[in-house]
Amino acid sequence: LVRLRARLSRSQNALGKGLLTLLSREHLDEDTWEEIEDTLLTADVGVQPTQELVERLRERVKVLGTRTPEELRGLLREELLTLVGTDSDRAVRTEPETGGPGIVMVVGVNGTGKTTTTGKLARVLVADGRSVVLGAADTFRAAAADQLQTWGERVGAHTVRGPEGGDPASVAFDAVKEGKEIGADVVLIDTAGRLHTKTGLMDELGKVKRVVEKHAPLDEVLLVLDATTGQNGLIQARVFAEVVDITGIVLTKLDGTAKGGIVVAVQRELGVPVKLVGLGEGADDLAPFEPEAFVDALIG
Ligand code: GDP
Repeated sequence: LVRLRARLSRSQNALGKGLLTLLSREHLDEDTWEEIEDTLLTADVGVQPTQELVERLRERVKVLGTRTPEELRGLLREELLTLVGTDSDRAVRTEPETGGPGIVMVVGVNGTGKTTTTGKLARVLVADGRSVVLGAADTFRAAAADQLQTWGERVGAHTVRGPEGGDPASVAFDAVKEGKEIGADVVLIDTAGRLHTKTGLMDELGKVKRVVEKHAPLDEVLLVLDATTGQNGLIQARVFAEVVDITGIVLTKLDGTAKGGIVVAVQRELGVPVKLVGLGEGADDLAPFEPEAFVDALIG
């Protein structure tokens, strides 16, 4: 939590600080409300959520009359929390009711941090005493399987891989099979994400999913999105959501952007919660997404 705060506040609280400063003005005229809107839009909160927040804030500030800094901070905190949402189940599901290993598929465009996230997640699970099998189903990017295997060796997870250029679905199948045979707790499957061939992507991910589900239902499909890509990230999210049922979002590279509002926008877009956030390249830089800590870090 402390780390999350430190990481986020380095670049992010521009948003919250900016809003607080604007709200503290003597006269909250139309121009100020527009500036507040602009600040939210610049942080990638999205048009509709921005309008909702500003409307509610305007109403509440009006009702409040006198405004102390503490009151304003409280209002802003509450409204941002409403926007981010506090009642979603944000736990990554890795324990199937039917027994056998939990199966998690990690999808996303290349470069968003998919393999890194898979490695970091494995580390969290292993540290929690669970045995993990990694499936290197990104068989197209030559280095991807090596990269995943290196993570596996580092964190103590076995990696199942296939020949370079081989069939991703068969690697995924083998990984789940191995997970079952050795009685692993969780199988994490890293997939390829070449978005420029949309049909290819659809076919491939669809096939991976179908083949895995011959063993057991997927417990979690995590979509990895790079927080620094803004609206592009949302377009990617839409494409992936057409192919597989996304059950959770991992927002990476939040350490390098002031655009934390993308959390709100992407949850709206997909109707699923952000479950994890990436806060750096290191093995420990994956954190559960906690709305309260996030909003506090924004406001500073
Ligand atoms: P993939 O192609 O989606 O599997 O992406 P990779 O896992 O190879 O990551 C691409 C780059 O992003 C690598 O240099 C990672 O170290 C970096 N990266 C991944 N997650 C984060 C993060 O949360 N913060 C930062 N700053 N860099 C990250």
